Amino acid sequence: MTDAPESIPAARPVIGEEEIEAAVRVLRSGRVVQGPEVAAFESEFSRLVDGRHCVAVNSGTSALHLTLMALGLGPGDEVIVPSFSFAASANAVRLVGADVVFADIEPGSFCLDPAAVEAAVTPRTAAIMPVHLYGHPAAMDRLTPIAERHGLAVVEDACQAHAAELNGTPVGAFGTAGTFSFYPTKNMHALEGGMVTTADAQLARTLRLLRNQGMEQRYANEIVGANMRMTDVAAAIGRVQLGRLAGWTDSRRANAAHLDEHITALVTPPVAEGARHVYHQYTVRIPEGMDRDTVQERLTAAGVGNAVYYPTPIHRLAPYQEPDRKAGRSWDLPETERAAAEVVSLPVHPSLTNADLARIVDAVNALGAAL
Ligand SMILES: *Cc1c(COP(=O)(O)O)cnc(C)c1O
Repeated sequence: MTDAPESIPAARPVIGEEEIEAAVRVLRSGRVVQGPEVAAFESEFSRLVDGRHCVAVNSGTSALHLTLMALGLGPGDEVIVPSFSFAASANAVRLVGADVVFADIEPGSFCLDPAAVEAAVTPRTAAIMPVHLYGHPAAMDRLTPIAERHGLAVVEDACQAHAAELNGTPVGAFGTAGTFSFYPTKNMHALEGGMVTTADAQLARTLRLLRNQGMEQRYANEIVGANMRMTDVAAAIGRVQLGRLAGWTDSRRANAAHLDEHITALVTPPVAEGARHVYHQYTVRIPEGMDRDTVQERLTAAGVGNAVYYPTPIHRLAPYQEPDRKAGRSWDLPETERAAAEVVSLPVHPSLTNADLARIVDAVNALGAAL
């Protein structure tokens, strides 16, 4: 029996020697929670978002939750969110007691469709939450004027899109606030962690208070807050990863360009004019007539890791169906439904070798002949 080559994983988080040394350095220092490493990480991350204020927290979900708290959103408010995203996007809205209003996506970018957003605005709408899904920037150039016209906050969910840009502006530098995740599979990580970015100094102060029990001075609590602090161990790892992000992003983009050029059997991801896609995921569509389960089985058998993000749109998940049933409401989201049924993501991470890329292309293009 010959050894099968090792499978190519769908994602490959890096914990290298530098990350380990950084963590050990912090542990030995004794300053382990929201100390000098967090402050340094915030100021270094700020360069990625046109110098905006940065507030580090313990996860991307906390970044979203904290932002909605700081904006004062709650019961009676509506937030427009894409249903084609990770549940965390909508969960943050529900966690502050506000209502989620789902809007459909554009088929090319998989991000919010501005026309659908405009149609979803009501007198109760308080904010729009564009998700830069898979690392493709949402249409901020068309969403921002809608928000301005209706006086709405814009909370960017950039948890998958570190260093993505639209017309030269980085994501996280468009909205009232931007939010990032540093979960291990993201384009950079801090084991767990998140960041809120904003140009509004007053909002930044409120975010800082809310993440730490409402305190600036110890035991002089000004408002009711939570504990969403980042540890200095996480920040030290995040700083190492941030230093590698530009190189990793170039690798992801080069890998995607290779796949774009050579894949013929599946529909490769389009990129909008002016968009800098950072390929958190390289997501293809299965053409009509091909069965996705079979495609996934064949790819897996060929040693090509793959996954569906996300097989169930958020509005079809139990905790979201319940309020809709009560309100006698249903959503018309045809592009969301179609995407959830058609997409599959292929490996695109920076650890891929040329041999891995060739294997992915061969396995994908063999599907055309086999199915
Ligand atoms: C990962 C992710 C989040 C949440 O980030 P965590 O750090 O895992 O809490 C939110 N939104 C999107 C789109 C994500 O991909």
